[in-house]
Amino acid sequence: MTNSQTKVTFLGTASAVPTAGHDTASFIINGKYLVDTGWNAAIRMLEHGFNPMNLEYLFFTHCHHDHYLGLPHLLFYLRMRQRDRPDRPPLKVVGPAEDTEKVISLAHRFLQTDRFPQLERAPDIIPLTPGESYEEEAFHIDTSGTIHPVQGLCYKFTDKRSGAVFAFTGDTAYHAPIAEHVKGVPFLIHEASFGPDNPAPGSSSGHSGAPQAATIAQAAGVDLLALIHCSEQQSQAALVAARRIFPNTIFPADGQTVTLMADGVVSAQ
Ligand SMILES: [Zn+2]
Ligand SMILES: [Zn+2]
Repeated sequence: MTNSQTKVTFLGTASAVPTAGHDTASFIINGKYLVDTGWNAAIRMLEHGFNPMNLEYLFFTHCHHDHYLGLPHLLFYLRMRQRDRPDRPPLKVVGPAEDTEKVISLAHRFLQTDRFPQLERAPDIIPLTPGESYEEEAFHIDTSGTIHPVQGLCYKFTDKRSGAVFAFTGDTAYHAPIAEHVKGVPFLIHEASFGPDNPAPGSSSGHSGAPQAATIAQAAGVDLLALIHCSEQQSQAALVAARRIFPNTIFPADGQTVTLMADGVVSAQ
């Protein structure tokens, strides 16, 4: 990888419950930044050629089960392999202020770190409330709010080396301010839980249909929209519905990589 590229690889795109070979929504940025853990992100990383020991950050969009069930597996993997990389710094976990610390603590209880102290290696937790920003070595990160039953973060990442920008919504109902937050970004990842149809007006599901995701992409003027968090059976119909509004839409396959170049060009391999 050259310094002028940012690579986003999808580890799963399913909603809530995975099927054989298709994990719930999760993806990895440049092999170092994991977004949500799906049910099985650690094993999905290995399947797609990524070493979990290279992870520096985990970002939670929000703390519903389909986005954090893989956390104990991941922490256990990192700790069991720690002897291979004793100098590896602790994982940094960024996520919604209301729930991230609780989910990490529950994962530790599940791993029984009180009985198995060799598993005790607390990650660094960086809680964010919607609207807060975070700065690290490679990326400047802005967040905004979502409409969902639990606190969620819509993230916008700016690669400080190349200027490449991309954003992902996490789970959310149609929320017009997201289009402002992601205005002009080349690449947007938006959930489409309802597939080709939008939820009924007044629905309190906290999820979007593909036409709503496409409407946000169009209003924001993005170059490429990726739909995720949609059942496999509905994915093709969702794609057709979204493309009527925003033609440059994909439904990524598991393992598919989207590359952002420094000049703003986005390519889906
Ligand atoms: Zn979800
Ligand atoms: Zn959710």
